[in-house]
Amino acid sequence: MTAPLIDPFARPISYLRVSVTDRCDFRCVYCMAENMTFLPKKELLTLEELDRMCSTFIRLGVEKLRITGGEPLVRKGIMTFFQSMTRHLDAGTLRELTLTTNGSQLRRYAQDLADCGVRRVNISLDTLDDQKFADITRWGRLPQVLDGIDAAQNAGLRVKINAVALKGFNEDELFRMVEWCGSRDMDLTYIEVMPMGDLGNEDRLDQYWPLSDLRARLAERFTLTDLAERSGGPARYVRLEETGQKIGFITPLTHNFCESCNRVRLTCTGELYMCLGQEDMADLRAPLRASDDDALLEQAIRNAIAHKPKGHDFDYSRQKVDGQMTRHMSHTGG
Ligand code: SAM
Ligand code: SF4
Repeated sequence: MTAPLIDPFARPISYLRVSVTDRCDFRCVYCMAENMTFLPKKELLTLEELDRMCSTFIRLGVEKLRITGGEPLVRKGIMTFFQSMTRHLDAGTLRELTLTTNGSQLRRYAQDLADCGVRRVNISLDTLDDQKFADITRWGRLPQVLDGIDAAQNAGLRVKINAVALKGFNEDELFRMVEWCGSRDMDLTYIEVMPMGDLGNEDRLDQYWPLSDLRARLAERFTLTDLAERSGGPARYVRLEETGQKIGFITPLTHNFCESCNRVRLTCTGELYMCLGQEDMADLRAPLRASDDDALLEQAIRNAIAHKPKGHDFDYSRQKVDGQMTRHMSHTGG
């Protein structure tokens, strides 16, 4: 038996998020600058290398794989990668293969994803208003995403909507969003905006809508029951008693849940980030490329996990942004 991956705080690492590209067909204002310089293609792990990386993590006990980016579905040939991961689902070593997407390419790929054994997808959507959607994503068009959501549901994929809570932007849509998700049988999770990327500090504080406030507003209309359910991640859930809906909160700022963190993140260039909110990372591409044998890679992964920090240092409580990360969310993979 291979020893499982356990970090210095006794947290078993069973969840890998993999960014397969830093590119995207949108330019969400909280995620990317309008004029992004993307990595040269030769810097990226090839699809075969991504397979080797993921397969090694699975051998070391990773049971859940989330493919993200950038926009994972704009990576050329990405379906080949999903198809190749199916063998781990079939073998029972991988329990879940899933992705986070902006939804723009789902009309084209939803059925293929379902055929590869994907059962659930997270789709990011902050607003149901055409103009606001165009504003926040800069390059996105809402009808295309709504069509992608239809395609996902028609293909039998369970959809969860992820919305970034943005002050003065989608506050007025809270109930509309809840009702819309309820009417389509989709779960909904709100996320606090994190200080990633190179926007100025003032911008972040201007955008920040604490979920404690969002929750209080929900409670004005609904009876909220806290659920014990944990996805093994930072989300906490409530049930709206009147509708039976489940609403998730990811609150890195108002309350962090680092103590139960079970995940690490691999970038499209093979850097392993042990924490989204720390600069510490380990290069796994060099040991991967150094030999065809996976022994070096396995050792590099174990060494990296031995350095997983206790938690992030994001903090806005002093009315300034602490813990700012210079890298963009699309680099590490949200
Ligand atoms: N392109 C895909 C998408 O948008 O779903 C996957 C990658 S995107 C980086 C993953 C998630 O990160 C999205 O839900 C997005 O809203 C979120 N995100 C990006 N920048 C963020 C930030 N500064 N704070 C909080 N969430 C952020
Ligand atoms: Fe692209 Fe997702 Fe970032 Fe928006 S949040 S720019 S869709 S990677």
